[in-house]
Amino acid sequence: MTETVDAPATTRIPHWIGGRRVEGGSGRSGPVYNPATGRQTGAVDFASVEEVDAAVRAAQDAYPGWRETSLAKRAELFFRIRELLHARRGEVAEILVHEHGKVFSDALGEVTRGLEVVEHCCGLPTLLKGEHSEQASTGIDVYSIRQPLGVVAGITPFNFPAMVPMWMWAPAIACGNCFVLKPSEKDPSASLWVAELLREAGLPDGVFNVVMGDRVAVDALLGHPEVAAVSFVGSTPIARYVYEHATAAGKRCQALGGAKNHMIVLPDADVDAAADAAVSAGYGSAGERCMAVSVVVAVGDVAQPLVDAIRERIPKVKVGDGMDPASEMGPLVTAEHRDRVASYVENAPVEGATVVVDGREGVPDEGFFLNPSLLDGVTPGMKAYADEIFGPVLGVTRVATYEEAVRLVDDSPYGNGVAIFTRDGGAARRFQFDVQAGMVGVNVPIPVPVAYYSFGGWKSSLFGDRHVYGPEAIDFYTRGKVVTSRWPDPATSQIDLGFPQTR
Ligand code: NAD
Repeated sequence: MTETVDAPATTRIPHWIGGRRVEGGSGRSGPVYNPATGRQTGAVDFASVEEVDAAVRAAQDAYPGWRETSLAKRAELFFRIRELLHARRGEVAEILVHEHGKVFSDALGEVTRGLEVVEHCCGLPTLLKGEHSEQASTGIDVYSIRQPLGVVAGITPFNFPAMVPMWMWAPAIACGNCFVLKPSEKDPSASLWVAELLREAGLPDGVFNVVMGDRVAVDALLGHPEVAAVSFVGSTPIARYVYEHATAAGKRCQALGGAKNHMIVLPDADVDAAADAAVSAGYGSAGERCMAVSVVVAVGDVAQPLVDAIRERIPKVKVGDGMDPASEMGPLVTAEHRDRVASYVENAPVEGATVVVDGREGVPDEGFFLNPSLLDGVTPGMKAYADEIFGPVLGVTRVATYEEAVRLVDDSPYGNGVAIFTRDGGAARRFQFDVQAGMVGVNVPIPVPVAYYSFGGWKSSLFGDRHVYGPEAIDFYTRGKVVTSRWPDPATSQIDLGFPQTR
């Protein structure tokens, strides 16, 4: 987490409460940088407990009116949100480049994948349909309805400052809840931009609120009696913390954590296609994706040709400022994170791995850049294998058999994404049947599900039992109610003290 500092007078990034910008009064703030220059561009207010309470109260006040709003009107509003977001996606993509560092085309891709979730929510009248059983018993009908929870909160990571909040606020609001977002303090401006766009689209004040900040704001949300549910995406230790505290306080919680995604390459795979995929998925967004490929597991004699093919491709990856259309990979989010990622390359020889390409060489003096690195001979037990590095460092682990490869994935404490590259349909089918992970790619290195399925990992990549967006989000952000109804003919009415039975 970024250390709290007395940030100099740059752009001030306030909260959004009750439909307007609200400057923080806690006296605490954090710096926001342009990672491509390394210079501070903003200072984000850190909320106090009272400011979090004000946001929750604004959401509570808006809730009765929003809950009463018909599905037709909510759907109409979602279509407007979709149109505005689509038309103005370049503006928010630019904000992402300036605060996160990813390249503009990647930032547009992030917004587009988030938009898919908004588009899915345009179908909210269908998504919220219940079931009806006529004549369940004589003269009795039974039907189920889904109702919103009330005020719900979302806490999000730095690496997708637009898309991950959309995974949460879109279905939460579509279901009739009011929302309080606590975005990452490293790149908070996209959330304010979205708040203004939602107001422009006509969302009533207080339905969507943003509190900026650090652990103080998170703890205040976790402990707030009026917050009914918490969605979290971030690193595994904080996901576990959020899940334990939210559920101890009686809240519904889904907390998505970190990852260590394996890409298995079988001996029959097309080496060029596998190398292209490894470079794209390992170094895209500078490796700062929870679905990034972090370790390539090369089975049998594919290993050396694959390492050679990846090494050949690395010098062609254009690293630079994300606003330069020629750039394919930008800087890391902070200097501290860049140094932590670089330490894995420095320690690799000590751990017994080989540095095939050293990304610490040839980086610009300005900004938080690190070039792509390739490590070979990475084995379980090494930190470079075990840790989620979250940077442009790709490790290659060599194994002899398919069974060994699958065992590596299954022994990992994480279970987010995994991919297999092969031309053998039988092997791929067996793999998706066997493997212990939530999202599987067959010749697809980053298998992020489309918006009408749900996204989530297994093991320490997800605490809770509901994945995000798609059908599971509708479940998560609503409560079921079942109505048993009879419209009796008064002539047939009688007293019966027995337990009701269907007849
Ligand atoms: P992070 O865990 O440091 O921060 C996530 C959120 O938690 C932020 O809003 C932050 O302010 C807050 N936070 C940080 N420290 C806290 C503390 N001690 N107490 C309470 N709140 C705290 O994660 P990050 O570095 O912003 O994001 C990168 C991580 O997120 C990676 O581990 C990545 O794999 C993970 N991630 C996972 C998914 C997924 O879908 N599983 C998606 C994106 C990112």
